[in-house]
Amino acid sequence: MKTFYIEQFGCRATQADGAALERQLLERGCALAQSASAAEIVVVNTCTVTASADAQARDAIRKLHAANPSVRLIVTGCYAQRAPEELSQLPGVAWVVGNSHKPKIPKLLIEAASPRSESSRSDGFLPVSAISLASLPESGPPAEILIGDIFEQQTLLTTPVFGGEGNHTRPTLKIQDGCNSRCAFCVIPFVRGKSRSLPPDTVIRELQKLSEANYCEIVLSGINLGAYGRDLSPRVEFEGLLRRILDETAVERLRVSSIEPMDVTQDLVELFASSERLAQHFHMPLQSGSDRILAAMHRWYRAEHYARRVELIRERLPHAAIGADVIAGFPGENEADHAATLAFIEGRPFTYLHVFSYSKRPGTKAASLSNHVPGAVIRRRARELRALGERKAAAFRQSQMGRQLRVLTLHPCGDDSNDRTPALSSNYLRLLVRGVFPANQWLYVEPSGCEGTFLTGQVSD
Ligand code: SF4
Repeated sequence: MKTFYIEQFGCRATQADGAALERQLLERGCALAQSASAAEIVVVNTCTVTASADAQARDAIRKLHAANPSVRLIVTGCYAQRAPEELSQLPGVAWVVGNSHKPKIPKLLIEAASPRSESSRSDGFLPVSAISLASLPESGPPAEILIGDIFEQQTLLTTPVFGGEGNHTRPTLKIQDGCNSRCAFCVIPFVRGKSRSLPPDTVIRELQKLSEANYCEIVLSGINLGAYGRDLSPRVEFEGLLRRILDETAVERLRVSSIEPMDVTQDLVELFASSERLAQHFHMPLQSGSDRILAAMHRWYRAEHYARRVELIRERLPHAAIGADVIAGFPGENEADHAATLAFIEGRPFTYLHVFSYSKRPGTKAASLSNHVPGAVIRRRARELRALGERKAAAFRQSQMGRQLRVLTLHPCGDDSNDRTPALSSNYLRLLVRGVFPANQWLYVEPSGCEGTFLTGQVSD
């Protein structure tokens, strides 16, 4: 029996892939080791969204090999898809498996247990070199690279992800992968392929199982959730899927992780306003408040279109969380563009921001541009955006004082476990509730104070 361990990096989508892989390996009789050092094979599931994500993965690979030179590493995920040759040169890497071939990893492990000749393979792999894992020297290249462009043939595998913020209280279910857009800064379409959706019946079944297991809040995630169902035949709309979930499952609170602004339609907002079971939370990537930069980014909306979406939400859901991703220092961004972004955000009721410093991703349109912004300027603009985001978030917390919030208790963290319980509201506010309560329980709380980024309060009658 092979023992394995999965070293996870990256976003919830990548973690969902890792969870699906773990399920597949366990189903095939492999055993999950307690730690990387106790495993025969370690799968390193990488991210490549920024240059620092790449650096983290390389660092982890080097450390894993140094700690245990006999461990065999299978490197997979987005970085593996983007730069397989680069990763294959790192010490201890036996296989580099792109996202295109990720579902085949369990077969690789089984093959590793019972070696067979290369000529007997019928799995469509495109090996650069043909080294059986079983016969691989314990250290040093060459590694075998399995990569291709067959995303569209893949069945989208799904397994709920537990962990991260909210510990094990709020599972995330990935229902969509890939993206058909080509934003100039983004490497995701190159490493995850075209948009693919989990069939609605499967989504319903998975949610029913989670609900029966007493999970109160479930998060739906995807790379581009608004594109959900457009690849299916017959075509399914994301909004239609949400209606089915409300009708056919007992999920008590459903949260949508992120959705592109142009997919936030009047009908979708009305649906959110009609059911308390849908978390009052919209995360809509903005990226820039300057039309000039939005055009250069190949984003398909302009600031006024985005602003209208925010108004739609605020008109119907005055207390909803509205969050955005923003990129500081896209190539060609000047001080006027940056000021336009700051002014746009200042004038809108955002409740939090995720600010990213622009990072050049090989293969993207933006990487080939000649007008890159100096690093120090990018960092300063990112600081200014983050400071603004913190001010907006603090103002939103203040606006919720004295309201009654229905919150879900989470597992305790740090020192707060003594006499306070962390919890999360529908509108994505984190609270510390006076008293000790088990996780995964609904409470009504009246916030009366703030502590850092938390609201504090006690259970109301
Ligand atoms: S919509 Fe744009 S930013 Fe989002 S995954 Fe697709 S290409 Fe990347």
